[in-house]
Amino acid sequence: MALHSPGEALVADQRPDPAAGPGQVVVAVKACGVCRTDLHVVDGELAAPALPLVVGHQIVGTVVQPGPGVQLQPGARVGVPWLAWACGECEYCRSGRENLCPRARFTGLDVDGGYAERAVAAADFCLPLPEDIPDTEAAPLLCAGLIGHRALRRAGDPRRLGLYGFGASAHLVCQAARFEGREVYAFTRAGDSRTQAFALELGAVWAGDAEAAPPEPLDAAIIFAPVGALVRPALRAVRPGGTVVCAGIHMSDIPSFPYAELWGERTLCSVANLTRADGREFLALAARAHVRAHPVPYPLERANDALNDLRAGRYDGAGVLVVEGESRRGEPAGANGA
Ligand SMILES: [Zn+2]
Ligand SMILES: [Zn+2]
Repeated sequence: MALHSPGEALVADQRPDPAAGPGQVVVAVKACGVCRTDLHVVDGELAAPALPLVVGHQIVGTVVQPGPGVQLQPGARVGVPWLAWACGECEYCRSGRENLCPRARFTGLDVDGGYAERAVAAADFCLPLPEDIPDTEAAPLLCAGLIGHRALRRAGDPRRLGLYGFGASAHLVCQAARFEGREVYAFTRAGDSRTQAFALELGAVWAGDAEAAPPEPLDAAIIFAPVGALVRPALRAVRPGGTVVCAGIHMSDIPSFPYAELWGERTLCSVANLTRADGREFLALAARAHVRAHPVPYPLERANDALNDLRAGRYDGAGVLVVEGESRRGEPAGANGA
C-alpha cells in the first residue's frame, strides 16, 4: 500500500519481491503497527525524500531471505523499528545517541516500510521479540511503546505522571509506569469520555480534559498529541522542577506564553527517534511488566481506513495492519501468472 502523492489515499501496488543485499534481510510482514507518524507522512506534514513510498515502521515479521554476511536464519521472528540505519561513526553514534545521527535513515520514510507483504531491513537494526507476545500485540511496542519508553525515561523519575493524548503510546506507557509504581493522570480531548474510561481501565488514577488542572501537581508530563497548544496546560500542571516532554515527531506551533509558566526550573524538552538500546530495554520491560497492546486490527488492504480512523480518533489502543499475503503464497511458483 504505497503513498504516491501526499494528501491522497495509499494505492495497492504490485511489485516484484525485494532481494536482500549485504547485511540485509527480507522479512515476510505479519503485522505492522499504524503510527501517527505515518499520518504525518501521508498528509505531507513530514516530507518523504522519494515517492512512491511504503510507510509503516512497526513491523513484525519472519526472515525469509538473509543477505550475505547476515547471522539471522530464515524463520527468525524480528521487529523492524523506526530507526532503519545509523552510521556508527559520528559523534552521536559513538556516544550512544544513534537516534540523533545526522545520517540516520528511518523505516517508512527514507526506506520502504511495512504496509506491504515484504520488507527489507538492515539485519543489525532488527530487534528480537519476546516469544510470548503475539504479532499484533508486539507491533505497537516497536514505536508507540519504544518512543513512549524513551519519553518516560526523559521525564526523570516522576511519582505523578501526566499523559496528554491517550492513544497508542500512552496506553502502553500507562502500563509500564504503573508497573514502576507511578500514578498516571490521563488527559484527553475535551469530553472524550470513552478514552477517559479506557485510561481508567488501564490503571490511570485520574482522567480528564486536556485543559483541566489535575487534582495534584504533576512531577512530569508527556505530550503525545501533536498539538502545540497543549504545552501551556502541561507546564501549568507540573510542579516547580517538573518536566514536560514532547514525544511527537511533528507538532503544531507552540503558542507564546508568559515566562512565569516555565519559571521555577521547569524543563520543556523533546524526544527524537530511538536507539537499539531503547528497543532492547523496553521489550524486556514489556515482557517483565506484562505490558499489553490493545490492537485494533485491519487487513493490509484497509490501510487507508486504519489511517482515517486514527486521524478521527475512532478507536482506543493501537491500530495494526494484519498481513496475510504469506498464505496466498502457498501456490506453486508461477501459478499466479498462468
Ligand atoms: Zn551516526
Ligand atoms: Zn511511530
